[in-house]
Amino acid sequence: MLSVVVPCYNEQDNISNFAFELNKTLSTAGIDHEIVFVNDGSSDNSWNIMQRLASSSLNITAVNLSRNFGKEGAIFAGLEIAKGDCVAVMDSDFQHPIETLVEMYRLWQDGVQIVDGVKSDRGQESKAHNVMVKLFYDSLAKMSDMQLYNSSDFKLVDRAVVDALNQMPEKLTFFRGLSQWVGFRSEKIYFEVKERKAGKSKFSFKSLAKFAINSVTSFTSVPLHIVTVMSLVTFIFSIIMGVDTYINWVTHNAFVGFSTVIFLILIIGSGIMFSLGIIGHYLAKIYEEVKGRPRYIINEVVKSNNKQD
Ligand code: UDP
Ligand code: MG
Repeated sequence: MLSVVVPCYNEQDNISNFAFELNKTLSTAGIDHEIVFVNDGSSDNSWNIMQRLASSSLNITAVNLSRNFGKEGAIFAGLEIAKGDCVAVMDSDFQHPIETLVEMYRLWQDGVQIVDGVKSDRGQESKAHNVMVKLFYDSLAKMSDMQLYNSSDFKLVDRAVVDALNQMPEKLTFFRGLSQWVGFRSEKIYFEVKERKAGKSKFSFKSLAKFAINSVTSFTSVPLHIVTVMSLVTFIFSIIMGVDTYINWVTHNAFVGFSTVIFLILIIGSGIMFSLGIIGHYLAKIYEEVKGRPRYIINEVVKSNNKQD
């Protein structure tokens, strides 16, 4: 059986259509399936709609989180509840094409354990956004060997992979990265990002930037070592300046103005603050992990009685 995990946050206008279309396509293709809708603390009617769907004849499980935990939390809650021999993760807004899911399933049948959905284009995103995204993935690839350019959360993974992911003890997760980190036999499949059917995107520029920084620091400690490199550069520079100042002093040619001094203090001062910021960021991550709070809290799970568990 295939489980399709669908994280939803204020998606009242998409959920029903999505369930029916998905069910239609998968049934036509003869794929036994369940849909796991995860309500990520929506403030609209999403949860009511999911509950209603869960008691219909479709094989649907509705999971209600206790509040909005973010897409990552919702995905991992769905992975815990999903019962399938393989599990797919998909957006509820039709941006991940349902036909591609069928192709992914066929690849899984051929023995691929991770079918990785890669965007063949980035849909209707702005030029500036694309440049930022490219910069982010390039630096991630340089620092951590993770090749995630144009990757997405649209994936189909084998039960063995789901079990491995569920065992990860870390609280700050990054599904795209972790599903590459775990290894296994994987293959890419390209899909075109479609227009969102209804509602609007839940990710602001700020939340994307936060997500990007967190995903870099989840996979690499290189930024911390940059601090050391920066200190070496400053040290060499200070030796050169020191020698120069000494010669000037001996030859009675010492600087007259303070400009150089002020300039140096400002540069080094910002270097130190920047470094402290990087260290602080890792410290904050350690703090979050050490607290050991769960990635999500499930409030209730609704499933109709006539379906076997
Ligand atoms: N989502 C979620 N929790 C959140 C934000 C988003 O479960 O806090 C879900 C959302 O309902 C959708 C998917 O994650 O099914 C992708 O979100 P969205 O379409 O807003 O992101 P985009 O496609 O713009 O990157
Ligand atoms: Mg979307």
